[in-house]
Amino acid sequence: MIQSPQPSQERAKRSSDYVDDVPLPPLRKPVYILLQDHDRAERLAQQLEFFGLGVHALATAEAFCAAMRGRLPAAIVMDVDFSGPGCGLLLAAQAQLGLDQAVPLLFFSLHETDTPTRLAAVRAGGQAFMTGTLEASSLLEKVEMLTNATQYDPFRVLIIDDSRTQALHTERVLNSAGMITRSLTEPIRAMAELADFQPDLIILDLYMPDCTGPELAKVIRHNDRYVSVPIIYLSAEDDLNKQLDAMSEGGDDFLTKPVRSRQLLTTVRNRAVRARHLKARMVRDSLTGLYNHTHILQLLEDCRLRARREQQPLSFAMLDIDHFKKINDRHGHPMGDRVIKSLALFLKQRLRKTDYIGRYGGEEFAIVLPNTPLSAAYKVLDEIRRRFAEIIYPAQPHDLHCTFSAGVVQLDQAHDALSMASAADEALYRAKHAGRNCVVRVDPA
Ligand code: GH3
Ligand code: MG
Ligand code: MG
Repeated sequence: MIQSPQPSQERAKRSSDYVDDVPLPPLRKPVYILLQDHDRAERLAQQLEFFGLGVHALATAEAFCAAMRGRLPAAIVMDVDFSGPGCGLLLAAQAQLGLDQAVPLLFFSLHETDTPTRLAAVRAGGQAFMTGTLEASSLLEKVEMLTNATQYDPFRVLIIDDSRTQALHTERVLNSAGMITRSLTEPIRAMAELADFQPDLIILDLYMPDCTGPELAKVIRHNDRYVSVPIIYLSAEDDLNKQLDAMSEGGDDFLTKPVRSRQLLTTVRNRAVRARHLKARMVRDSLTGLYNHTHILQLLEDCRLRARREQQPLSFAMLDIDHFKKINDRHGHPMGDRVIKSLALFLKQRLRKTDYIGRYGGEEFAIVLPNTPLSAAYKVLDEIRRRFAEIIYPAQPHDLHCTFSAGVVQLDQAHDALSMASAADEALYRAKHAGRNCVVRVDPA
């Protein structure tokens, strides 16, 4: 039996598609920023706006309280000394009182601080602490991290068990903790299910009619993509030798039935958390946190198969920063890195959560846009291109502007992932030849 993900999850995804003529996703909740130096707060707010983040710089404690009553922000950035020495700490702590869910809170201090101040910040509910010059892109990075942590993606667990009753029971326990589950009673369908569902973790029965758990574990491990997905055996087998045999065949844990809900949940959660960290290191680029070259192509292939199956449009784009060599030559490699990082952040802010963004090469990016026809993809990218060109990077002797060129294609019958990528690359090449700072779309023949 296959149980689909909870309907609300699917709905949430669909509603964020680029359906209407809206070229950009609706801005998320704003961030409230309160600094001793209000002018500075306003300048920061302005810079962060370029990244698509709604930011309100608030000048007084009263304005802050009124804003909190009106709308809860995505995060609060508070100077510990806002409206008086140490007063920011108090103000932030008071604002959190009586809220159902704490708002991510980031403290700032212009000067290096002592441990008692940092301790007070922790006690006031601060989740991060920044000192010194507050720079837009590093602040954005912190805010991103904190807001993602509070609305994290629920874990996805695939349960493979020939007993429907047992599988349903396990599903119920995991669902009650907010995890998304699917169960499969025919192990023979496991590989297709893995590709489609992309679980964080697998719970596997030991004895099934078509094949045994350890046999299936081996098959799963033979595929490079699933080498690190944790497999937890759940079985009534209580012979330790048999348990150890199973573990040595690609399993990570063994739970003996009947298992207490709490033990099941703790085991699953611990394994899934670590698996996610490990996976992030394997599939992400370390400078930008975007998907790396190999993985973005893999995601393109996954999305291509899904688009075919569901008969949905799929677009793919390649971006390349213009005259990037000059930036390195004139302003140094670290400045070049900053530009790469800021374009990465900019893309993350401006695209949907359901789009996949990769760093394809040095200053080259790739974007997979599921459920998106070419015209909509072109519009979004062209808007991003125009806005990105407006960002000013403070530099000596002159401030710095940057542009990028892009090529975008839509999936057609003849495409596989590689041919789609090379079609986008060709379009990018044409954009460069057309004078750069433009997006070239390849309309289907
Ligand atoms: P075009 O407009 O045609 O794209 O010109 P360009 O100068 O951007 O392109 P080119 O491919 O000639 O140069 C890209 C440069 O990017 C060369 C390389 O040294 C630099 N680069 C690649 N990766 C990184 C990186 O991670 N950090 C920095 N700072 N520079 C990088
Ligand atoms: Mg370039
Ligand atoms: Mg290049």
